Amino acid sequence: MDNKEQKQTYKINRRGFLKVGAAATAMGVMGALKASTKVANAANETLNYVPGEKGQWSKLHPNPDYSGAAVRYVEHNDEWLGTTRIVGKIKNVSEADMGFNLAARGLLGEEAQKEVLRFVSKYPLSAALSKVLSAIAPDSAVEGKPAEKKLPIPDPEQMSKHIKDVAYFLRADEVGIGKMPPYAYYSHRATVGRDLMASLPVESWTVPVEERLPYVIVVMVDQHLETTLASTGYDGISSAQSFRGYHATGNIATILAQYIRNLGYNARAHHARNYAAVMPPVIIAAGLGELSRTGDSTIHPRLGFRHKVAAVTTDLPLVPDKPIDFGLQDFCRVCRKCAENCPAGAISFDDDYVEYNGYLRWNSDFRKCAVFRTTNKEGSSCGRCMKVCPWNSKEDSWFHLAGTWIGSRGEMSSQLLKSIDDMFGYGTETIEKYKWWLEWPELY
Ligand code: SF4
Ligand code: SF4
Repeated sequence: MDNKEQKQTYKINRRGFLKVGAAATAMGVMGALKASTKVANAANETLNYVPGEKGQWSKLHPNPDYSGAAVRYVEHNDEWLGTTRIVGKIKNVSEADMGFNLAARGLLGEEAQKEVLRFVSKYPLSAALSKVLSAIAPDSAVEGKPAEKKLPIPDPEQMSKHIKDVAYFLRADEVGIGKMPPYAYYSHRATVGRDLMASLPVESWTVPVEERLPYVIVVMVDQHLETTLASTGYDGISSAQSFRGYHATGNIATILAQYIRNLGYNARAHHARNYAAVMPPVIIAAGLGELSRTGDSTIHPRLGFRHKVAAVTTDLPLVPDKPIDFGLQDFCRVCRKCAENCPAGAISFDDDYVEYNGYLRWNSDFRKCAVFRTTNKEGSSCGRCMKVCPWNSKEDSWFHLAGTWIGSRGEMSSQLLKSIDDMFGYGTETIEKYKWWLEWPELY
């Protein structure tokens, strides 16, 4: 295949590929849920759970909040994960090869190796959040044996709604349930802190991930709108925003996993201090985002990058949601705001995807991002791409709702939304009236 042919192939996105009617509408999802086989639970009896009035999502949060975006629902199969095209075998990756771990191993330069051990703790608030999150880092907090006797539970459809209610009760902002993609598990996970990674052979501190459970529950928390509006994207509060999300989602996922084990089913929490799985594929599988121009980071139609997630893998009988398509692949093709504003030059300006580990994505370089975030002298970490992305909701106004609706309608309208976003200076402004935190530049 020559380059031109290859480019044309790679330009096919899911909206172009799907035959009319193949993508489910929101009503279609409800229909699919209703038509799904009702698997009897192991105790062979069901509890009567009365769904909320609108019913399809949960009582506490009856409809997902996509801001104004026009969202379609798509099937999850061997050729697609959401709107990401699968073109080969996706290999499970090792946690040892993730950006900050490469830095800790000394593979991204001396400065990154030194700074990766302190870049979060140099801002006092993120240091506090990180330290408290460490309390749920041990394996004993995230996994364990289920109760010997299974309790009676509702059928899978009702149980799915109930699980979402539990997550919302525990203060999640968005929740989705996915079919767990087997390639979302790490091949090996790390068992030591970053301070030990350079001095020990990789084989001595990584263990194979054997778990294969059928479902994944993904809980998402907003990193805070007003803080994002007031931040520059690379200041001290940037890593505190990340750890606010890691801390909140980590606690929700850990409690949720323990609750499911108490019901008699297997469940493992995955959070920023103890992952056995990679988060972007599970976000897509659970209908909470599409893959973006940044490579492997996903965007939610209302929150953009302004979120963090944790997850629970489980064999609790559930009915998974469907992945979503809000036109992001077309939007990212014309937008490039994150690439224009990335201080590390980590984000691709290319027109189209490349093949990477068996799937198509933009050719961005997470290593450059890891180096910049660990060695940033103007702050702790970086959230510049999060701040400038037009999908990071600016305000709850008709204007923003209309804008996101326009942006999710294809390539031409994506250009229009991007131009409006630029015209108003969205993403590049800092709104002082919202600034509430303290900065100590001498600590950076
Ligand atoms: S976090 Fe900063 S360095 Fe990393 S990709 Fe985003 S803008 Fe670039
Ligand atoms: S800033 Fe633009 S190109 Fe970058 S992820 Fe957001 S929508 Fe895509």
